[in-house]
Amino acid sequence: MFIKNRSESEELRVLKALNPRMTLEEKDKQYLTNLTKGFEGEVMFDGYLKRIVIQSLILNDLLLEQHHSHFQIDSLMITQSLSYLFEVKNFEGEYYFDGDTFRKFNGTEVKNPLLQLERNLSLLRQFFNYFGFNISIEPYLVFVNPAPLNRRIILPTNLNRFIHQLNSNKSTLNNQHSKLSDKLLSSHLTKSPFTKVPKYEYSQLRKGVFCHSCGKVMEEYSGRVFMCNNCSVKENTKSALIRSVKEFNLLNPLEKMSTNIVYEWCGGVFPKKTIRQVMKENFITSGYGQWSYYE
Ligand SMILES: [Zn+2]
Repeated sequence: MFIKNRSESEELRVLKALNPRMTLEEKDKQYLTNLTKGFEGEVMFDGYLKRIVIQSLILNDLLLEQHHSHFQIDSLMITQSLSYLFEVKNFEGEYYFDGDTFRKFNGTEVKNPLLQLERNLSLLRQFFNYFGFNISIEPYLVFVNPAPLNRRIILPTNLNRFIHQLNSNKSTLNNQHSKLSDKLLSSHLTKSPFTKVPKYEYSQLRKGVFCHSCGKVMEEYSGRVFMCNNCSVKENTKSALIRSVKEFNLLNPLEKMSTNIVYEWCGGVFPKKTIRQVMKENFITSGYGQWSYYE
């Protein structure tokens, strides 16, 4: 049973929204690609975990702190006698282990994911002990793409068998397991200390409505529907406007919104009358001429 679902991290959402609006440095672009691929890999793995039929509590995407060390867990599955700690990797291309060192095929050293797994395991064990939960943890590194060989690594070709194996275990959960799951949930931190989002200011961000599919600026506006000249995706005015306002809130959380600001943010494509109308219908008005987002 999934107790905590996965959603795109704030960091990923911010970078995605920034990408069309400013010129990201190569390293930031690479980071955005890595985050996107990582997220896709985790979602892929969730597809496998959905097939778990034994009693279990599955918590995705936890950010915890133990003794001043932060650690992030891709998936944790609590069963009767074991907790499974999964670190999911979506690496493409060739990697190999050179002793304890993990390398790309061209020889460049990459952060060894097994060391990361060991660190997370140790911190999670301390977390369990600290709160008095006596459940063993088994760590696994999951590659959703073909990857190097090592113990404790689950390859895509073995995933089906692995899930089948898990399902053949006996598992009856009790109050203690729920307590552990609750403790993990309530300890989850929502603000990541690891953020690598580049610095930016409102004034330097490109204004306009950007295609949700290809990221190019959308200019074909007929009054009701927007069309992307680049990929031909269509979107209605309301949805494009709300999406842009959400991006505004995400990228400029401290800024107040007004009709004029939304008008400017969207590159002047929407008549102010339309903005006022859509905002009134979808957002809470607070004060005069200001909106806070309403969901
Ligand atoms: Zn497009």
